[in-house]
This record gives sequence, structure tokens and C-alpha cells, in this order.
Amino acid sequence: DVTATKGNEFEDYFLKRELLMGIYEKGFERPSPIQEESIPIALTGSDILARAKNGTGKTAAFCIPALEKIDQDNNVIQVVILVPTRELALQTSQVCKELGKHLKIQVMVTTGGRILDLTKKGVCVLKHCSMLVMDEADKLLSPEFQPSIQQLIHFLPTTRQILMFSATYPVTVKDFKDRFLNKPYVINLMDELTLKGITQFYAFVEERQKVHCLNTLFSKLQINQSIIFCNSVNRVELLAKKITELGYSCFYIHAKMLQDHRNRVFHDFRNGACRNLVCTDLFTRGIDIQAVNVVINFDFPKNSETYLHRVGRSGRFGHLGLAVNLITYEDRFNLYRIEQELGTEIKQIPPHIDQAFY
Ligand code: ADP
Ligand code: MG
Repeated sequence: DVTATKGNEFEDYFLKRELLMGIYEKGFERPSPIQEESIPIALTGSDILARAKNGTGKTAAFCIPALEKIDQDNNVIQVVILVPTRELALQTSQVCKELGKHLKIQVMVTTGGRILDLTKKGVCVLKHCSMLVMDEADKLLSPEFQPSIQQLIHFLPTTRQILMFSATYPVTVKDFKDRFLNKPYVINLMDELTLKGITQFYAFVEERQKVHCLNTLFSKLQINQSIIFCNSVNRVELLAKKITELGYSCFYIHAKMLQDHRNRVFHDFRNGACRNLVCTDLFTRGIDIQAVNVVINFDFPKNSETYLHRVGRSGRFGHLGLAVNLITYEDRFNLYRIEQELGTEIKQIPPHIDQAFY
């Protein structure tokens, strides 16, 4: 249970009164375990490498100390929060705005490439930036992002504090940590079952039966909102078309769409304008939409990390969730491997799924 904590209160951290008001107005009553671990440590100025499962409140775990540490009288960039996608930047800046509603401060939430451009041009000055947050840190350290992040770090003062958060940490993170972090405090809240609260099923299908199978799922499941993953942009568009033809409402989102359009779809889906969203992995990291109770892997992912981040889109902050995987003959070894790697159980789908599970 992600709400089972040591019993700390937000008052225990001696936060500014305005920040405490923002926290309570957002509806947070007490800190979650990852927040209990990271807030006091981050406030001491220590670097942090934190790992905690999806949907357990990592955003506030870095936003709260960030907002607390900013000097309201000093109008320079003091905190930069890096995230891998623009959708996540929008979502995270919204959380900052809400938590910091009563504070007169600015936080920069951005994707790596963008801020590096601005910094090189001198539009953005980072010499007073005392805190760098890397959310979905392992993703930010993948080959597509890492070079720009390393360059960016050189624009920061040497005394900067770095906070890294993610649910997954491949070994590659270690090099970065050894090179850029200063005696980081390591937090690992992954010992409990990673996908706790999410019931996972598979259905063996042939490729050409997938749409039919999805149709059956739509008619049988009590979907509040669902996210349906495909492995390519083309397949997303095709499937979205098919779903609409079947008479179900659906949006789709992928990286080849214009950013404005992406923002609109994301915003409307979050506001409940549509029940189903078909997407590529663009959408997997960090996105928090509590109404999503079902995730469907129309195409099965290739590795356990991707699986974890996809399926973690349901079951946010202690809510229950359901994941259904359509498995073709070629996918079967991946299924067993992912099950093993994650130490989780993916069962064959029964004819009837009790609604109490999700
Ligand atoms: P993560 O980044 O760990 O995947 P998020 O930061 O997106 O998780 O938080 C998941 C959900 O939990 C959000 O909807 C958030 O508002 C909610 N949440 C976070 N912290 C608390 C808290 N202390 N009390 C209640 N709800 C919380
Ligand atoms: Mg997150």
C-alpha cells in the first residue's frame, strides 16, 4: 500500500507556510513513502538518486523541496526540472503551479535540448541555478538525451544539487552518477512488488485476430479510461481508425504529430473528453491520469522496462488497475522473460474478470 508511511506529516519539514497551504489545497494529507524519504534529505542540500515505483508521488518528492529552497526575492533561475517529453513537462509544471500557488516564484520545467539551446544563446542563464532535477532519469540518460544533459550540467555552478528520480535504473546510470553526483543519498523503494495493485493478463491471439479481441475486451471490461499501446506510429493510426469504425470513441497520439495537436489531445484526454487513447511509447513515461484503470498492450513491448512504464499508467497512487496483453506466437518468449525479470505474474485471461480488481 503506497499510503503506508512512517507517519510523518508535511508540518514536520518546517516548510514555508505558503507552500504548506499549496500542498493541502492540492489535497495531499500526508507525505507518501518516497516523499518521506526524499523531502528531508533534499532540504539538507544532498544529491539524491531515488528509485520508487510508478504512481507513488515522485513529482511532489522533488517539487516540494525545490519550491521550498527557492529564494523569492532573487529573480533568477534557481531550479531546473528536466523531463523527457513535452507532455510530461506540461504535467509537471502544472503540479509545480498548484503546489506553489501561494509563492511568487518561477521554476523551469523543460526537456533537455530546448534549455541547452537557450543557454548556449545566453537567453537562459544558469549560473545561479542551485538545483537540477532529472525526472525519469534513466530515460534522460539514454543516448538520445545524455549528450545535451552533460553539456547542460557544465553551465551550472559546481555547488549545484542534483536530484535523480525514476522507477527503473539500468546499469548505465552508474557511470553518470559516479561522474556528476556528489556523494548521493541513494533511496530505493522498489523492494515491494513493482506492479502491486495491477492485475495482469495475457490473451494468446493471432495478429489478424487482434482487433476482434480488442472489440471483445471493450464489450466485457468496465473501462473508465484506457490507454492502448502499439509499437509503431503507423499501427497507432490504423488501430485508432479501426476502433472508431467499431463504434468506440478514441484519440491517438504519437511523436510524428505536431506539438500543438499533441498538446490538445493530451489535454482533452486528461479532461475525460474521450475514453480510449491509442499511442506509442511516447506517452509511457511519467504521465499521471488517475482515471485510467485499464492498459492494453495491443502490441507487446520488447523489454521489461517498457512494459513496466506502460502498465504503470494505471494503478496510480494506490488505485487498482488492469493490464491486458495481446500475445502472438512470436511474443511468447518475451512474455516469459518479462514476467521473470519483473518478478510478477501475468495470467491467462479468464472468461470473466471481477470488477473488484480494477
Ligand atoms: P510518480 O511520479 O511516482 O509516478 P506522481 O508524482 O505522478 O507519481 O503521483 C501520482 C499521483 O499521486 C498523482 O495524481 C499525485 O497527485 C498523487 N499524490 C502524490 N503525492 C500524494 C500525497 N502525498 N497524497 C495524496 N496524493 C498524492
Ligand atoms: Mg513521475
